[in-house]
Amino acid sequence: MPEGPEIRLAADEVAKALVSRQTTRVEFAFPELRRFEKQLQGQCVTEVATRGKAILTHFDNGLVIYSHNQLYGRWYVAGSGQYPDTGRQLRVAIHNERYSALLYSASSIEVWQASELKRHPFLARLGPDLLSEGPDVETIVERLDSARFRKRQLAGLLLDQGFVAGLGNYLRAEILTHAGLHPSLKPAQCNRQQLRKLAAEIIRLTHRAYRTRGIINPPKLVARLKQQGLSAREQHRFNSYGRADQPCHICATRIECSNAGGRKMYFCPGCQPDPRTGNKKA
Ligand SMILES: [Zn+2]
Repeated sequence: MPEGPEIRLAADEVAKALVSRQTTRVEFAFPELRRFEKQLQGQCVTEVATRGKAILTHFDNGLVIYSHNQLYGRWYVAGSGQYPDTGRQLRVAIHNERYSALLYSASSIEVWQASELKRHPFLARLGPDLLSEGPDVETIVERLDSARFRKRQLAGLLLDQGFVAGLGNYLRAEILTHAGLHPSLKPAQCNRQQLRKLAAEIIRLTHRAYRTRGIINPPKLVARLKQQGLSAREQHRFNSYGRADQPCHICATRIECSNAGGRKMYFCPGCQPDPRTGNKKA
């Protein structure tokens, strides 16, 4: 499943094709949305915003197309009127004189008035969006320390889009390793300095993933790994995620993998000591 940075990058592509251009035609596959086709024709797209894993395409008449890609949804941008060779189902097509932005396979598509969006059931329960709203360290520490979140295990909390919006499985693993916190810890068990470090890594690694298109390891390490022959992206992008039994780049301990809530949780027993045993596993 794409995480916040991948969604923002997809939205950037769509924005490049649509923003400040007048639509020539808008098409919806779902019959209940077809009544909006005429209302959106000839309108300018003003912004392609993201909130967590949702994309919001704003038009200058105040209408907004809300789309959530779920697992399979995918945006394509093509020359106007051209369609990619894909077996996917076309759900939304937004055409202008130069480009077509095409959304395939997504099942969650709605049209809203911008002024009503704050009542949207999914958007209303999202925490601050790491990339579009840019919460600072203090804001995140405050949330970690709040009655609502402080007794939750970090493994589950970081995936809860109501805490902060935009984190998924790979960012969760990498953030906790870099913050040096075991996934079973709760914010209530962390001191102030640990909470600040965690908040800072949440911000830093999400922005790095956006800038580098998903490469979490620092540039110097990536350069070294490439020199060692690990030139494929999958071989050098992560420290913990997907690297069970391989040595941590920070401390050389073997990365472990557990199953947290049906999703694989990768962590480094060296960087992230288990609070239940208190010792760093050899
Ligand atoms: Zn380590």
